[in-house]
Amino acid sequence: MSYISEVIEMTERKNPGEAEFMQTVREVLGSLAPAVAANEKVLRDNCILERMVEPDRQIIFRVPWTDDKGVNHVNRGFRVQFNNAIGPYKGGLRFQPNVTLSVMKFLAFEQTFKNSLTGLPMGGGKGGSDFDPAGKSDAEVMRFCYSFMTELYRHIGPDVDVPAGDMGVGAREIGYLFGAYKKIRGAYENGVLTGKGLSFGGSLIRPEATGFGATYFFNEVLEHLGESIKGKTFCLSGFGNVAWGAALKITELGGKVLTLSGPDGYIYDKDGVSGDKIDYMLTMRASGRNVVKDYADKYGCEFVAGKKPWGNVKADVYMPCAMQNEIRIEDAKAMVSAGVKYLNEVSNMPTTNEALAYLQANGVIVAPSKAVNAGGVAVSGLEMSQNSERLAWTEKEVDDKLKHIMKGIHTQITDALSAYGMGYDLVAGANLAGFKKVADAMIAQGLN
Ligand code: GLU
Repeated sequence: MSYISEVIEMTERKNPGEAEFMQTVREVLGSLAPAVAANEKVLRDNCILERMVEPDRQIIFRVPWTDDKGVNHVNRGFRVQFNNAIGPYKGGLRFQPNVTLSVMKFLAFEQTFKNSLTGLPMGGGKGGSDFDPAGKSDAEVMRFCYSFMTELYRHIGPDVDVPAGDMGVGAREIGYLFGAYKKIRGAYENGVLTGKGLSFGGSLIRPEATGFGATYFFNEVLEHLGESIKGKTFCLSGFGNVAWGAALKITELGGKVLTLSGPDGYIYDKDGVSGDKIDYMLTMRASGRNVVKDYADKYGCEFVAGKKPWGNVKADVYMPCAMQNEIRIEDAKAMVSAGVKYLNEVSNMPTTNEALAYLQANGVIVAPSKAVNAGGVAVSGLEMSQNSERLAWTEKEVDDKLKHIMKGIHTQITDALSAYGMGYDLVAGANLAGFKKVADAMIAQGLN
């Protein structure tokens, strides 16, 4: 049996029932065949694949908190510290009822390769809780965050592990988490978290970074293919911070955003989501209602309940910005029939492996999330640099660095593909490039 198949089987055996984690392990390891063929003995002797699929540690803890009525609750907290070969663990915290260990592990595993692609010294980690922030008061969120940090603080630090936001964790939550950390540690170590408010060490452009970076990366793809964003139509899903940043940058570069989505369905705005309508996304998010229909009611456009735009709306580019596994095989088939040419994945692992294989076999250009959405964590890395140097860069300085990083990711991918004599397969290229740096560092550091 091949080295890759052996490790996939072993991982399956050791992690029963972890569907999301196994999905990403299969996807990533499945594309490393050329790297293994070129260097099998060294990789095997150093147990590189075996070590890559086993997190350094997986921390699970109890998070008790009291709601506004005085009723007590207990949630489960997680931090998976996957790999720190190239830098301190780095990755977001997700607060969402469907958070499980498998979800945390898939995200932390992906994060290791994504962070490697940024070219910045950051390892991979992820954490969160099955806490549902929807409908909670500020005071409840604060009590939850304080309780969460009462355990998390002992596992993190500016040179150890640096959490940030993810779904359900934004500026408000990061503020409370930082307050709790500062209180417990009795020290002002603001490099311990990223995505902070601007008044206490946050970076300009961090809120926009994931959406801007995703658009910059896609622009590189189009340039490579001799095309441009100008005049192209886009279907986005989600209406949070990531979709907001993407809509801003796409419209600025002359593209048109036709759809947004929420748990309730999707809106189709044939005139394009632009100007004030993009600002309104922030209002909808801040309302805590978590419904996108409000947009259709306000601007009088079409709302389709209970569906995603995939296959239902024709556009040049699909850009999922919501959830894992939101594009399944039936969506992939509908996309191909609708003549969609590009899938620019923004949310982490939005496409099932089956759907991904179908899209690629049918000529859709797929830009993988670990490259596309790396701008978010890259600007987190820039926030860490600013914190450790005790300075703050201007908006332009951060944005220029972000553009440069996204361009660099595209170059690394095309370099990896040409090194292995492969065509323009961005999915494989991103895995091969992300893998190489981490594997080199692990080999250099010996068995640990
Ligand atoms: N949660 C984001 C991601 O998936 C950002 C992580 C960070 O900034 O550390 O990459």
